[in-house]
Amino acid sequence: MVSKTLVRLIDRNAEMDRYVLDGEPSVTVFMRRSTRARRMVLRVSRLDGRVSLTIPRGVKDKEALAFLQERESWLRKHVSAVQPTILASVGAEILFQGVSSPIINADVARVAYQDGMFQVPYNGRTGAQIQAYLKLAARDALAQASDHYAGVIGRGYRRLSLRDTRSRWGSCSSQGALMYSWRLIMAPPEVLSYVAAHEVAHLVEMNHGPQFWQIVADIFPDYQDCRKWLRDNGEQLHRVTFDT
Ligand SMILES: [Zn+2]
Repeated sequence: MVSKTLVRLIDRNAEMDRYVLDGEPSVTVFMRRSTRARRMVLRVSRLDGRVSLTIPRGVKDKEALAFLQERESWLRKHVSAVQPTILASVGAEILFQGVSSPIINADVARVAYQDGMFQVPYNGRTGAQIQAYLKLAARDALAQASDHYAGVIGRGYRRLSLRDTRSRWGSCSSQGALMYSWRLIMAPPEVLSYVAAHEVAHLVEMNHGPQFWQIVADIFPDYQDCRKWLRDNGEQLHRVTFDT
């Protein structure tokens, strides 16, 4: 008989029970009872590896734990695939324009980017300062790229705003308002340029049909590589936290 991994209840409250799956490493599972759930659902957050198990109200603890144990190897595989978040702080490295850049303390009045490193003042709020620096740099780069591609296709846009969106890297409204994720400044410059070219192309075609992609290809021939980079690495950009 195969011995089952021990699952221990470590915290119980009205909303959520917390269990731990013993082993190396141990895995914490947040178990939530739901009146709406029809079946048990086990999820691993791609962002931080948080494990949640939603169970319908009538299901007994014992059944839920058996369900968990049956899926242990699946669970461990997915948890170990999730990379931890990176806090933008002294000693850490974050991507800037595609380059992994260490954050160091230096005798500077404000954040400076030099020799592939972020230099931050002593005793400053490093995360907030770096985030502000990234947003400024993103605005410059995205405005420049948007102006460039808008010029190439001969259309103007109305305004440009930055957000921290998880679901999309950019958007273009029918009124010609461009929106981008400022996290694009962490990606290689050509990837940022591609997103700008893509959104600007929507000034002509408000859809993703063949004509739209033809415009993108005309103004940004290597777009496939950049799309692939975002698919493969985009999650990395969201993994950086700033503790603001
Ligand atoms: Zn689009």
